[in-house]
Amino acid sequence: MEFACSHVVCNWKPETVVPGPYPTPASLVSEDRPRTSRLLSSSNHDYDNRVAVLPRPASEISVVPPPLPPRQSLKEPKPRSQPPPVPPRGVEAKGETRLKANVNVLSLSVGRLVDISKAPAIQCTQGPVFCSRCHAAMSSLSNVQSKQNEVLWLCEFCGQENRITSLDPGTKRTHRQSLPRRDILYITEDSDNDYINLEDMLVVFCVDISGSMSVTSEVAPGNSMRSPTYVSRLQSVQDALQRALSSLLQSSPHRRVALVTFNDEVTVYGDGTGVPLTLRDWSLVDFDYIKEQGEKYSTPHCIAESIHPLNQKIKEMREHGATALGPAALVSIVMASRYTGSKVIICTDGQANIGLGALEPGSPYSYCPYFYSQLAKEAVDRGVIVSVLTFEGTDCRLAEVGRLADCTGGRVNIVNISSVSTEIQSVLADSVMATDVTATLLSAEGVYFPYEDEMAHKLVRKLGNVTEGAEVTFQFAVKPENVEIFQRRDRIPFQLQLDFKTRDMQKVTRIVTEQRRVTTSSWVWAGSLNMSVLAVHCAQLCARLTMEGRVLEAQRQLKAQQDLLKDISEQRPGPKEESIYGNWISTMSLICEDLSGDNQGLSDEAAKVVYQMKRARSVGARKHKEGALGL
Ligand SMILES: [Zn+2]
Repeated sequence: MEFACSHVVCNWKPETVVPGPYPTPASLVSEDRPRTSRLLSSSNHDYDNRVAVLPRPASEISVVPPPLPPRQSLKEPKPRSQPPPVPPRGVEAKGETRLKANVNVLSLSVGRLVDISKAPAIQCTQGPVFCSRCHAAMSSLSNVQSKQNEVLWLCEFCGQENRITSLDPGTKRTHRQSLPRRDILYITEDSDNDYINLEDMLVVFCVDISGSMSVTSEVAPGNSMRSPTYVSRLQSVQDALQRALSSLLQSSPHRRVALVTFNDEVTVYGDGTGVPLTLRDWSLVDFDYIKEQGEKYSTPHCIAESIHPLNQKIKEMREHGATALGPAALVSIVMASRYTGSKVIICTDGQANIGLGALEPGSPYSYCPYFYSQLAKEAVDRGVIVSVLTFEGTDCRLAEVGRLADCTGGRVNIVNISSVSTEIQSVLADSVMATDVTATLLSAEGVYFPYEDEMAHKLVRKLGNVTEGAEVTFQFAVKPENVEIFQRRDRIPFQLQLDFKTRDMQKVTRIVTEQRRVTTSSWVWAGSLNMSVLAVHCAQLCARLTMEGRVLEAQRQLKAQQDLLKDISEQRPGPKEESIYGNWISTMSLICEDLSGDNQGLSDEAAKVVYQMKRARSVGARKHKEGALGL
């Protein structure tokens, strides 16, 4: 768990007003202050809520606890987290921020957390002990008391008194010294599968051969003496597929590969050795029939055995007709579902206009807006990653089709005839680290999760497939009525319970528990914030809000983040990556501005950026160079 701020800012409040004038500083002051001092502070300082450092009458101090940090803890000589640095004199006025953006943000490198081969966590075969009320797991932070045959645990998250008798599993570990550590792996072997070959996965190339694939582009000749050549989209895809097959043969000769093409009809070639299956007419609109055909089709052989017939089928592809993308995607996903971690790579240049999932207005088949979401669910449930590549200069309604990639952990990109090969290679390089991933985040009662769950102190997010390097972020805040209690509390606990299935089918629960100290916004120095956590969160959240049509909310977030970025850059010279984060925010702002101007919906270009933003991760953590956005 990586936090954007070293402390929990307990008095941050979301803005409830429409974009425009920000609330007066007085509204940000915690409620425990007398009205007079509030007015005084807001009229004297136009910049902040620094009322926390104003002298107050002695009588009041005895009733209300003083603002907590920065101070030394008496209980623990070596606090795990340091108080934020006090702003240097002179810079102080500038250093204070109004904290329009919520800095209570935490990031989880899920791609790393599910990689149990690299986990420093302690493995444990005995199950965790859970709180009977909030389902928090007992950890080394828990306060337990042993009484004869019974152990009393006052849950640090919800306050529930749990009585654990000696009959309960895990009671042996409830003695103080042997409590579970802060980072623990609980592993159960899945008895259904005794042997899993990790190489056993399928790559399905699902290729558009509709008429528009014949559009050609000029390719600059290598030599100025020669005349330029023209290559069609289909030719570039054929070339890219043949290269992909050769490199798969080198790197993973046991990988199974299948080919599906689509135009007016869908043709399933499988590994190219059998009789192709053709779906046409009525069968293109029958979900169950297509699914059944995909399930029945013979399992493709590995690439070492099938490269020649596959290459032959690729060479023979000819373009004509319409775009039955929906049925082709369905049959490909069903075929890939045989092996967890399989991939479907869809390569298209036009709107789906025939059969299930047709998107063109006036299409003879009824358009079902849930088709792509339903298909995505099908893929996620079986641990299949779908990536969608479309050609530049076309309109594919990427916002709809991209859902398939977005939900399954795949990529969305717009390619051209010279980049399609490289993009297919990078899609092939992505690997699924875990499937069926669910993250449960718990904090103390009184904490809530803006934009997710406004009520509970526990958040459950289903992540499905997790690929290498994936990062997810959450923001949290303290309910106004709990601010005072939290200030008195000094520190609050956080727990992540990550449930997942590894590629070799082990069921794992990883539990990480931490505590953070509490502060008020007036003590936060913008320069001390972790910019990468904040920026990744802002990109992910705003992209999600935009996709859900909540453009105004996204704009408000972006504005707050821009102001914070400005404060930060004034306070410390930022490393190079920070300007990249600044660019993300500006790009997202432009997209939102366009969207609020007219109601045309997202263009393919904008949809691509938004989907890539949803997959945003820290620039520093990147292994490979992945384009200008750093995504
Ligand atoms: Zn509890």
